[in-house]
Amino acid sequence: MNLASVVPPEALVEPQGRYLADLMGRGVQGTADAVVLPSTVDEVAAVMRWCYDNDVPLTARGGGTGLAGGAIPVEGGVVIGFERLNKVRQFDPLLWRMHVEAGVTTGDVQRLARESGLRFPPDPGAAEISQIGGNIACNAGGPHAFKYGVTGHWVTGVEAVVPPGEIVRVGGPIRKDVAGYDVKSLLVGSEGTLGLVTAAWLRLIPAPELELPVIGLYRDADAGVSAIERVLASGVVPAAIEYLDAVTLGYSGDAYPFGIPEGAAFMVITEADGSDAEARRVAGELREALAEDAVAVHAPEAAGEVAELWRWRSGVAFAILAQRGGAYSEDIAVPLDRLRDVAVETVEIGARHGVPALSFGHAGDGNIHSTFLFEPGDEDQEQRADAACHELFELALRLGGTVTGEHGIGWLKRGQLEPQLGAAAYDLHTRLKRTFDPKGLLNPGKKL
Ligand SMILES: Cc1cc2nc3c(=O)[nH]c(=O)nc-3n(C[C@H](O)[C@H](O)[C@H](O)COP(=O)(O)OP(=O)(O)OC[C@H]3O[C@@H](n4cnc5c(N)ncnc54)[C@H](O)[C@@H]3O)c2cc1C
Repeated sequence: MNLASVVPPEALVEPQGRYLADLMGRGVQGTADAVVLPSTVDEVAAVMRWCYDNDVPLTARGGGTGLAGGAIPVEGGVVIGFERLNKVRQFDPLLWRMHVEAGVTTGDVQRLARESGLRFPPDPGAAEISQIGGNIACNAGGPHAFKYGVTGHWVTGVEAVVPPGEIVRVGGPIRKDVAGYDVKSLLVGSEGTLGLVTAAWLRLIPAPELELPVIGLYRDADAGVSAIERVLASGVVPAAIEYLDAVTLGYSGDAYPFGIPEGAAFMVITEADGSDAEARRVAGELREALAEDAVAVHAPEAAGEVAELWRWRSGVAFAILAQRGGAYSEDIAVPLDRLRDVAVETVEIGARHGVPALSFGHAGDGNIHSTFLFEPGDEDQEQRADAACHELFELALRLGGTVTGEHGIGWLKRGQLEPQLGAAAYDLHTRLKRTFDPKGLLNPGKKL
């Protein structure tokens, strides 16, 4: 029996380029014997059953915006894309919840919620393309994860297909459930290696009435990190705490909507939100905490200016990439008292390997995008940037952190999990993998 006999003919498409790579940016392209785009959960189950019967690897693909090579079919076989499994099964705005299929984009969920005065808080950067299934598989974060938490925090139930092709539902439209083991949380962040997410029940909240960013600019990283520590110690809860270092500001500052003042070499972006009165109170306290030792403090209030600020912040990664054409941007996360070390040592690592280096990211979560630049085609430079990344991973572990705070291990960081976890915890991971996927066919070559 061939694959064509278990799914409708329109579900099978040519294994072309866009299904074989993601946005990791290392020129890695996988191979596939078939690409399947199912429209129903039964079709997903049929594909997995066929792969299991025939010992064929199966790689899940969402929007392909992943930055760790997770969706690349590195061992061939079948790619299963979720773009046609894209129905909103149920939306209950008065109960703050939504039931969506895996292929609905993050942007569509956010828009639908917003139209009813609600918010789906996770805000990973590529929201117009990334899918809820991919967000769940990576447990994606974003700037506002500081106050609101990452994707998993907003998932109350998951429907998934697990080997050899069974449909399972854990959790649901319920806000509490301790009946079974927390399998939902095991699937969250499992990067397509334990099961295929086909749908999810999402929790929403009423959208804040007002959002007021407060931005501090400092002469150096030391002053900027001290400002972040003052914000945390002040006891107010900002929605976001981001930072951009001197090199990042040098590459992206021209487009910053409020002008980078003379002498500013480190930026801290915070945001207050809530009811009108609450947002104004928190913004006042943020301004006080950020003002000490600042070169300038900017506090835009007009909705257009606020949107412009976050649009600019979203574009920073592209401004960095445009400098040399190549950038390895990692996502280590460290305890908050080690932020200063990451900011300083990233630049030192770059200097040791002779490549431009910078850092920016979700400072409030200690989750930093340390980045090393190179010119594509210059193999030596590229290898040095890669070596810098490996030294960065060692730094993350030395500081008591993790090699990945939001992008996942994927293909890119293969081999990094065991040194981080140690032998016993790693062995537990491999036994979990075998329990879900005894033949090791789900997204092989990733995570473990
Ligand atoms: C400009 C830019 C900014 C970004 N900003 C952020 C950010 O702020 N925070 C953040 O966390 N990430 C960020 N990302 C990374 C990326 O967008 C997220 O990881 C996103 O959640 C990936 O979703 P996707 O649908 O594109 O998944 P894909 O890239 O298609 O897949 C990612 C992984 O999930 C698996 N997978 C996909 N769908 C399923 C499914 N239905 N069931 C099981 N497994 C599945 C794949 O096998 C793969 O391992 C950014 C990326 C870009 C390009």
